[in-house]
Amino acid sequence: MKLHVSIHDVSPAYEAQVFHLLDLCHARGIKPALLVVPNFHQRAPLADAPTFVDAVRMLGVDHELFLHGYTHRSAERTGMRAFVDQRIVSAGEAEFSNLTVTECAALVDAGERVMRDLSLRIDGFVPPAWTMPKGLVEVLAARGYAYTEDHLTVQRPKTGEVWPSLVVNFASRSQTRAITTTVFSRLSMLLSLGVRTRVALHPTDLRVPFLHNEIARLLDWAREQQITASEQFLAD
Ligand SMILES: [Zn+2]
Repeated sequence: MKLHVSIHDVSPAYEAQVFHLLDLCHARGIKPALLVVPNFHQRAPLADAPTFVDAVRMLGVDHELFLHGYTHRSAERTGMRAFVDQRIVSAGEAEFSNLTVTECAALVDAGERVMRDLSLRIDGFVPPAWTMPKGLVEVLAARGYAYTEDHLTVQRPKTGEVWPSLVVNFASRSQTRAITTTVFSRLSMLLSLGVRTRVALHPTDLRVPFLHNEIARLLDWAREQQITASEQFLAD
């Protein structure tokens, strides 16, 4: 079964955790894609962390680098839909939720500018909290993106192709959700559903002590699968 492994929220805000997760991957010969946030929560601009950026650029030699939003945090919105999206689904991390196409385009362009100014290649785009509003795929298509994903699918925007995909991750914001998702990750190991499967690690997973073991177990399982970069991941 094809597998794509990534580390989310690659930002100076999580420097220690990102490198810890990388060590866990590298110890197993896994080279995860790095989902880079240009200015996490508007308090960790990449440009202010040249040593971190140098390290990410070096990793880019043999790791994919994806743009992962701009600040990762949503603008304040009103209304029940926004409340549900932000407070319940993603705890305020769905940056692109409820944005207009114009707003989406402006954020993608701003992120691309930061990456370009720091000589960081962009191999794909993953919206924070996997929240993909209407029109975002078209924004990515117009910019030639070859890879994006949401909760349920992986996509090649420039051709409009979409595939169903399972994502295995630990929702570590609350203990209850962490337990639920741990069970899910074990199940998915057993089921091997035969669909393209993503393993997504988050720096905040490391805050939950029992998840350290679960991450190790998941990566031990992952190394036995066919781990691919995004291009081969989408190929038939
Ligand atoms: Zn994220």
